[in-house]
Amino acid sequence: MQLLAKRVDLIKPSPSVMAMSRAKELIAAGQDICNMAAGEPDFATPRPIIDAAYQALLAGETKYTAVDGTRALKDAICEKFQRENGLAYTPDRISVGAGAKQVIFNAFACSVEEGDEVIIPAPYWVSYPDIVQFNGGKPVFVVAPASQGFKMTAEQLESVVTPRSKWLVLNSPNNPSGATFSRAELLQIGQVVARHPQLHVLTDEIYEHLIYDNAPYASFAEVNPGLADRTLTINGVSKSFSMTGWRLGYGAGPRQLIKAMEKLQSQTSGNPASVSQAAALAALKGSMDFFDEWRNEFRRRRDYIVEQLDGREGLSCPKPAGAFYVYPSCARHIGKTTPAGKRIETDTGFVLYLLDEYKVATVQGAAYGLSPSFRISFATSMNIIEEACRRVLAACAALH
Ligand code: PLP
Repeated sequence: MQLLAKRVDLIKPSPSVMAMSRAKELIAAGQDICNMAAGEPDFATPRPIIDAAYQALLAGETKYTAVDGTRALKDAICEKFQRENGLAYTPDRISVGAGAKQVIFNAFACSVEEGDEVIIPAPYWVSYPDIVQFNGGKPVFVVAPASQGFKMTAEQLESVVTPRSKWLVLNSPNNPSGATFSRAELLQIGQVVARHPQLHVLTDEIYEHLIYDNAPYASFAEVNPGLADRTLTINGVSKSFSMTGWRLGYGAGPRQLIKAMEKLQSQTSGNPASVSQAAALAALKGSMDFFDEWRNEFRRRRDYIVEQLDGREGLSCPKPAGAFYVYPSCARHIGKTTPAGKRIETDTGFVLYLLDEYKVATVQGAAYGLSPSFRISFATSMNIIEEACRRVLAACAALH
């Protein structure tokens, strides 16, 4: 009898986590790698948050808590939704987990039946399809190329909805493209969803604060209040407060779903770490004044990369409206040959060439469902970004 269950074959290791670990291994082995694969801000968690966590530990917050989050944290999350998004939630509609990733997993595990369809616009965050498949669902991809700003249109959505469509996944700002839906676009998408009562919306808003050029942020449930009962809004402290390692994310949605997710979590991980909840409470209740500096720094890096790469050495690099990634196309290099005589067949081949020959770690577009492209994270220092751009341009120039 074989040890592993068949469902394990339905998932693969997260390609971005793999790329990041590979880069870290090579750096540890003494190689001079520009690591552009990071999916996390390079800033430290703000000191007041760390202090609050320490005080909470000293005060004895070291025990089990309510399975899906303390009342104090849920209250703070409700206040955050009201204050920042104009959304009125009560604590019984909030679920807190060990990262947004766990909350998304719980939501699909509790709602997706064998064969249910989940509509995922591409490019997408690498984990959505795998989580859906692990839970018996069928991802239905809608490709949103650079020519439409990497944004799925309402017409595209309408054309793929079937009676089995259970969820639509929205992610704005998007990982990997940075594309950010405007109010008007979310309204149009909402109108399609409204016509199909079987369809629910999981809106992953984890990069909410990372938007540039003074664009206002639009949250799907606020733009489409009539769909609030069919919407699960996902957010967390990982990206906004540089707290990826604390593992704390949350969701707000239909009471029935939240209740089921609590039941599942009670039999899997139990509560998210008490200290992380205390830290998240301090983050959500504290000032976000520090964030302007972070955003300005990210904007400076974004502008630099786009200026360096867009339209040079066969690359095109659209300017992202949000998040901390650029998603350039390497289409003009597919079919070319490296100085070592190797043909570049795919974006995976291109990314391997960048890593092996020019020591720049990025992630292949194939991982995000839109090729031939590659993701460069600019959540790293300006020095490294400058060096990475030099190397990428040199790598491209050396192809023939
Ligand atoms: N959603 C998106 C779009 C992400 O890019 C990530 C992390 O890379 C997550 C969710 C996971 O966030 P968390 O650290 O809260 O699990």
